[in-house]
Amino acid sequence: MKPKFDRNRLIASLVSAIVLLIFMFIVIKNRQNATVSFNETAFVMGTVFQVNLSSQGKTEDPSAELVNIGNRLERDTLSWRLDSSEVAAINASAGDPQGHELSPEMEAVLTECLRISAESDGAFDITLGALTKLWDIDGWANGDNKGDFVPPAKSEIDEALSNCGYEKLQIKDHRIYMPEGMSVDLGAVGKGIYLDSCRDYLSSGDELRGVILAGGSVLTAGEKENGDDWNVGITDPFSDGELIGYIQVGPWQSVSTSGSYERFVEYEGERYHHILDPATGYPAKKGNASVTIVAKSGLLSDALSTACFMLDSDAAVSLAKRMGAGICIITDDGLVKGDIELIHQK
Ligand code: AMP
Ligand code: MG
Repeated sequence: MKPKFDRNRLIASLVSAIVLLIFMFIVIKNRQNATVSFNETAFVMGTVFQVNLSSQGKTEDPSAELVNIGNRLERDTLSWRLDSSEVAAINASAGDPQGHELSPEMEAVLTECLRISAESDGAFDITLGALTKLWDIDGWANGDNKGDFVPPAKSEIDEALSNCGYEKLQIKDHRIYMPEGMSVDLGAVGKGIYLDSCRDYLSSGDELRGVILAGGSVLTAGEKENGDDWNVGITDPFSDGELIGYIQVGPWQSVSTSGSYERFVEYEGERYHHILDPATGYPAKKGNASVTIVAKSGLLSDALSTACFMLDSDAAVSLAKRMGAGICIITDDGLVKGDIELIHQK
């Protein structure tokens, strides 16, 4: 017998199929729009590196590559401690009349650093290697020698200072020339340079938003979902591990803070910190407890936070302004200065 054509059944099946398709479409669409978070903490370039990013829909976790970028930068380019780096090769060439050929990236970094040295009247100086080694700043950071620290003698400081001075460093025809005994220390800009590399990596790929922290520096990646500014916490210079408040920062900005609380040792009741005044060879004492700079470039924000720490607050504010950066200073007396508002936590 010929099967009877059941019109109602066919319509019911078709409707079910359409409902199923719509349901599947909604599920897939929701999956595509779901927020995926990437949170990672690692130890990179001698400091804590933290990734807090999110993305709508499918994307790769960028954390591992961001960590690799930092490790490569340290190993191949920035570290004066690792023989494999370009800075180590530059330092080994000090005194060589042939100088040393620079990579285009290093030439750009050094040229920008020399510009900031000149703009800050030498407050910022990447040729302080002999002095930072004499004070053994890296030793305190690692927790070594903290107990038996004795400040260097004035004669040792003067000797080290005779091997410093950015004006004695020359860059010509993509080569660097330094006098014997001089050594470059990029410790004041390393984290900022790292964040610039992170920005280049992230802004060329998937739509990611959030913040990345490297030591005292922060990158705001992308726009906040609701279009608001990012709130970037500012460490309380007077209270270990606490925040004093936050500042509001737009997308793709670098925020760097330099403070006397970050690395220091004590000897006979006196505190010696890691930001050295090239004019005296001793830790800077200009009445600043911390200086925060906001700029598009991480290199600039990091260099300027160190430079401005070395200046009294009026000079620091005018330097930041001249260089197109925002500044927020917390003085030793707890006053807040500069053109960026510090919003206190409720
Ligand atoms: P930051 O924490 O970014 O302010 O950088 C401080 C680090 O920069 C120190 O640990 C030194 O390695 C180096 N440094 C100290 N004093 C100066 C200075 N006046 N100019 C440039 N680098 C400095
Ligand atoms: Mg710095």
